Amino acid sequence: MTLKKILAKRIKTQGSISVAEFMEECLLHPEFGYYTKRDPFGHHGDFITAPEISQMFGELIGLSLAQAWINQGQSGSFTLAEAGPGRGTLMVDVLRATRNIPGFQDAAQLVLIEASDHLRTVQARTLKDHNPTWIKHIEDLPEQPLFLIANEFFDALPIRQFQRDRDQWWERHIHMSSGKLAFTHVTTSNHSELKKRLIDTKDGDIIESRPDSQRIVATIGTRISRYGGSALIIDYGNWRSHGDTLQAVKQHQWVHPLSAPGESDLTSHVDFEALALEAVPCKHSELTSQGIFLKRLGIDLRAQQLAQNTHPTKKKEIFAAYDRLTHPDQCGHIFKVLGLFPEDEAPPPGLTE
Ligand code: SAH
Repeated sequence: MTLKKILAKRIKTQGSISVAEFMEECLLHPEFGYYTKRDPFGHHGDFITAPEISQMFGELIGLSLAQAWINQGQSGSFTLAEAGPGRGTLMVDVLRATRNIPGFQDAAQLVLIEASDHLRTVQARTLKDHNPTWIKHIEDLPEQPLFLIANEFFDALPIRQFQRDRDQWWERHIHMSSGKLAFTHVTTSNHSELKKRLIDTKDGDIIESRPDSQRIVATIGTRISRYGGSALIIDYGNWRSHGDTLQAVKQHQWVHPLSAPGESDLTSHVDFEALALEAVPCKHSELTSQGIFLKRLGIDLRAQQLAQNTHPTKKKEIFAAYDRLTHPDQCGHIFKVLGLFPEDEAPPPGLTE
């Protein structure tokens, strides 16, 4: 059996499926899902994420959150959480960078939100000295202050896509055509969210929504506004979704999103405005490019420190990683950071209101 055959069977019995249903199966199918069965990160995998590029990324994020914890009065136990921790690399860098901050790690309860059993095993290995607990559902976060990181997490959550035809929206679906998976459109009711977008779109435009992310960020927002804390959400995307951003990557190359179900990573750009709106009554920071965020946190100094007294080859690697994370032509601009924080507090360091 292959995932393509499973999808074909489902489409035959149930009719066409939404892009969200397709993504969900491709990424998290219990047997054939992309994240269920592999570790896709690194040079030998399909893509590289910022924590896999350099330890500087996780270290600076850790220090930003720890400073936010200090600024908020550091009272009692709190949750230190990561959504979609991949290999656990970012969190291990956070924990190393913050280990000398008095009281921080003693008060922290480490919680990882991870859907893939395979990646949980990898995370357990990376974080074996830190006693994490895992949850599958965000609603299971403890009722206490929450300091949370989500790097390239929201882009992996399923999206629905809608295309405008005059004053009507059609939902993009997937069906079988001549034995192949292909895009099609089905009628949809013009609910209020879609009606609103008639103002800033034109005939033929595609917009996207991400139902799970609304629920997830609403829970994060409620915890932070009720108990205190901060969240750093880092991803590629923009303030408002516009256009078809569904993309598939296999072995560092773009492929057609329908060509290799379960074998390629499927993501789409994050609509940060939708996240910010759903997090209310939490406040949100200005959407800031990753390069600016990391520079404000002192990545220049950290790179120089790491490069001191090292072999010239290693030095070159450190500055190449620095460029990759910060330069506007590399990941510095396309990746953005949104901070969430309580109404009566300031944003975490590196961000402004
Ligand atoms: N943050 C990591 C990995 C990003 S890849 C890094 O920067 O390297 C996306 C991660 O989110 C993976 O760990 C994947 O298994 C997890 N994930 C995807 N969908 C999820 C869901 N619905 N719930 C929980 N985790 C999910």
